[in-house]
Amino acid sequence: MPLLSRTTMGLDRPAPAEPVTGPGAKLVAAQADGGVAGRNAMGSGWGAAMGQIKGRGGVFATCANPGCGSGWLHLWRSRLTPVFEAGWTCSPACTAQRVEAAVSRELNGRGNAQQGHRHRVPLGLVMLEQGWITSGQLRQALDAQKAAAVGRLGYWLVRQQGVSEHQVTRALGLQWSCPVLPLEFHDTEALTVLVPRLFVDAFGALPLRVAAGRLLYLGFEDRVDPVAALAVERMSGLRVESGLVQESLFTSAHSRMLSAKFPSVELIEASSEPAVAHALAKSIERARPAESRLVRVHDCLWLRMWLRRQTGPLPERGSIQDLICSIGTQ
Ligand SMILES: [Zn+2]
Repeated sequence: MPLLSRTTMGLDRPAPAEPVTGPGAKLVAAQADGGVAGRNAMGSGWGAAMGQIKGRGGVFATCANPGCGSGWLHLWRSRLTPVFEAGWTCSPACTAQRVEAAVSRELNGRGNAQQGHRHRVPLGLVMLEQGWITSGQLRQALDAQKAAAVGRLGYWLVRQQGVSEHQVTRALGLQWSCPVLPLEFHDTEALTVLVPRLFVDAFGALPLRVAAGRLLYLGFEDRVDPVAALAVERMSGLRVESGLVQESLFTSAHSRMLSAKFPSVELIEASSEPAVAHALAKSIERARPAESRLVRVHDCLWLRMWLRRQTGPLPERGSIQDLICSIGTQ
């Protein structure tokens, strides 16, 4: 949009007492988000273009779509929303192009990175090495597991060999090189804004607590899910520390969280990449979020829309909308 980005003249001028001075400005203010939006969004680019209006020194919103071919000022469109990944777009077509690029990035880029197979020392050996079990205990537990053809080794060590559950969790932590996380003061209701219910359920990712407003502890039962953890980190902007939670504690906290109230979510199934992008862009155009982001979580794309600007580390429950799109295999 050359018209909008051409000049920065007047950026450092003092703001006039009444920034709206011309008939053109009134039109913008009236048609943007309640006047305030129009004034805030006006910058010198607009002023220079119209020769009438003096901005308040704000930066005039320019379309974030690098392929934007519009030289046209969409007077009827808010200059504040919709925002996708920190960039405002000037038209539904530009929103669609940015979303298409993001969908392609997630499906073909780093979100797609398969976890390399990492060889792990078997749980029994970890425990044996630590001196937490004897070779006799290990052999009997393995035999029981084999005979029953059900249950993990840890289960049999606890049920049959009297090994403590906590010790099994510690061994799993060693096996996965991750900490064992406590489950004290678990404020289930407050944390449902961080991870959609579907992911808590399907991937067993349990938000435990937020520390210092920037660190999220994410608990798993018997193995961490780095793909889910990375997705939550990218979406929330919080640093995520993944760890294991002792099974019995995890199970009750997990079911408690699943029965808590979560923000609204829309589930979509799409058969192709263009169909996914189309559906997501349409939602953004409809909801006009103040911010929105897209991340991949395994075979899902997760779009989160913040309908208002956020102030704290946890999003306001009523102001977020999630959209989860499963990607069909073709
Ligand atoms: Zn554009």
